[in-house]
Amino acid sequence: MQTAPIVIIGAGPAGLMAAQRLAEAGKQVHIYEQNKAAARKFLVAGHGGFNLTHSEHIADFITRYDKTEVQQIVQSFDNTKTVDWLNSIGIETYVGSSGKIFPIKSIKPIQVLQAWLDRLQELGVQIHYEHKFVDFDNYKATLEHKGIVIEKDFAQLILALGGGSWQKTGSDAKWISLFAKKNIAISPLESANSGYNTSVDYAELEGQVLKNIAVHFGETSKKGEVVFTKYGIEGSPIYYLNRFTRPHNFPLTLHIDLKPNYNEAVIVEILKTSNKTSEVLKNKLKFNKTALALLKKLDKETFTNAKILAKTLKAYPIPVESLRPIDEVISTAGGLRFIELNQGLALHKFPNVYCIGEMLDWEAPTGGYLLQACFSMGHYCTEQILKSKS
Ligand SMILES: Cc1cc2nc3c(=O)[nH]c(=O)nc-3n(C[C@H](O)[C@H](O)[C@H](O)COP(=O)(O)OP(=O)(O)OC[C@H]3O[C@@H](n4cnc5c(N)ncnc54)[C@H](O)[C@@H]3O)c2cc1C
Repeated sequence: MQTAPIVIIGAGPAGLMAAQRLAEAGKQVHIYEQNKAAARKFLVAGHGGFNLTHSEHIADFITRYDKTEVQQIVQSFDNTKTVDWLNSIGIETYVGSSGKIFPIKSIKPIQVLQAWLDRLQELGVQIHYEHKFVDFDNYKATLEHKGIVIEKDFAQLILALGGGSWQKTGSDAKWISLFAKKNIAISPLESANSGYNTSVDYAELEGQVLKNIAVHFGETSKKGEVVFTKYGIEGSPIYYLNRFTRPHNFPLTLHIDLKPNYNEAVIVEILKTSNKTSEVLKNKLKFNKTALALLKKLDKETFTNAKILAKTLKAYPIPVESLRPIDEVISTAGGLRFIELNQGLALHKFPNVYCIGEMLDWEAPTGGYLLQACFSMGHYCTEQILKSKS
């Protein structure tokens, strides 16, 4: 009697990694994907630089994740293994100046995906497009294909359905209502790696960048660059702070330290060297045109009093109203809660059903950490499946 295959739902990076590992171990693997093509969000992530992982040491790397479960999984398949895997499918990588890891410049994102899909095809993985997953129990998945309902038996089912941003890529989070009906606990999806809407209008600075600054919220701060937009602010320190601001009531205020390497007393001394404040700011404190434009928004009293101005330069207030809408942001926080899963990432209620990738309740900043966790989970859950059946 032929045994049922392993069924994977979702042809994103988490699902594809699981498929490759299982097929390499000789398993029969079928992937079902609701789109007409694989990994659309993976390709979107490739716009403007395909940041697949990060080069930092694993001890620092794992601190980027908010959940210990994800930290352990990333440790078991780390950034060096991701690079080895990319090389094994013919993709050479390089480390950018920021430590991020990219495919070498001549390789386009679509070529990375194509190399991966070619390897899956060689391994006999079958991908069925335009199949929408609508239900499951512990032994069969229900799908819709061109208006026809199909039931597929499986040995194991791996759900890699993604988070809830950029719905047009297929990650529509419709699985949440299905899980809710089965009394499986979900933390509500929220914007992560998101810009902020501000109550002050910075539209005249749109596209301009504040460099070498630190953004503070309470005791938490992050150095980096901030970009002004029509609606407010974006940038890696902003994304980092999402996790810390989310539990608080909006509106709230962030503070930008425009001179993180100088203390307030030193700034006061520099400001006092001349009455021509604008010149001191430009020539001695070396503020760029964006910072100078921002400082022009200050009232006269602040601008002309060295002590008050120094204080403001160390903590320029940015009044924040809200995060950006979920559909626009890079990733979502929230999702399937880890208490619903055993150590192997299978559901307690349905032990043949594994869940991986961004659909789980974890978050991390951009910089390759999101994709790394998806690759790691794809690898990790297959190890668990193979162990349990050997
Ligand atoms: C603009 C942008 C930039 C990004 N930049 C980076 C970056 O620089 N570095 C980084 O690490 N990460 C980045 N990411 C995040 C990264 O792309 C995601 O975290 C990652 O793709 C999540 O992988 P996944 O496999 O869990 O889910 P997804 O990639 O979302 O894949 C899920 C798949 O499941 C399918 N699916 C969903 N529901 C069903 C259903 N009912 N039936 C059948 N199929 C279904 C979807 O169509 C989709 O193909 C970026 C994301 C965006 C949007």
